[in-house]
Amino acid sequence: FVVFDHVQKSYDGETLVVKDLNLSIGKGEFLTMLGPSGSGKTTCLMMLAGFETATHGEIRLAGKNINDMPPHKRGIGMVFQNYALFPHMTVGENLAFPLEVRGMGKSEREAKVMRALDMVQMGKFANRRPAQLSGGQQQRIALARALVFDPELVLMDEPLGALDKQLREHMQFEIKHLHETLGITVVYVTHDQGEALTMSDRVAVFNDGRIQQLAPPDELYERPQNSFVAQFIGENN
Ligand code: ATP
Repeated sequence: FVVFDHVQKSYDGETLVVKDLNLSIGKGEFLTMLGPSGSGKTTCLMMLAGFETATHGEIRLAGKNINDMPPHKRGIGMVFQNYALFPHMTVGENLAFPLEVRGMGKSEREAKVMRALDMVQMGKFANRRPAQLSGGQQQRIALARALVFDPELVLMDEPLGALDKQLREHMQFEIKHLHETLGITVVYVTHDQGEALTMSDRVAVFNDGRIQQLAPPDELYERPQNSFVAQFIGENN
């Protein structure tokens, strides 16, 4: 469904921060890019989202080069750690705004917004402003905003990084549940080994712009392919 085909990325024309990356992600899969800071995970997500272009190689979505698809036609929802909600708008308006920009009528907009809010159990909060919500609730709204378009693919970059441990674990469960019930494909970026291992179908372990190992969580534990993977997976676990 998503293919990185010999993808390289350099920001300065010299240093490669992504080095000859090859990766196929299946439809409906939960794929996590795990690795230390600076290993190139976010850059890969930004290229997939169309915010950055690959220096070499190509990225395909459902068989098409993503550079040939306008961003709003890609059917990609996004959730980032700094989930910038518009502070002067209510929760409902935050979700409806991008639909309005696309010319969707009011009744359809309202139905979509309520459906997305119900998915994250926030239906009762449509008239609140972001400042009147807890961090966890705001993160749920960010998730709902990513789901409001019925995307086939959702990209998440450290979406739970700002939350405390207990809430993070709860949200991990909720994201996994949404992934399973909606049948969406998720590409998830984290540096948290525990998060990657509990949520993912497969984990791509990144270091220095390369995938060191691509495997289901249990295989990473049982058969780490090199000393980097063994050490990184072993940390904090
Ligand atoms: P983190 O978890 O810290 O976000 P990461 O694994 O996601 O790390 P990237 O953000 O992809 O890594 O960064 C990879 C390398 O590219 C880093 O050395 C970073 O400094 C560099 N980099 C990232 N974005 C840019 C940019 N817009 N311009 C120049 N260099 C960048």
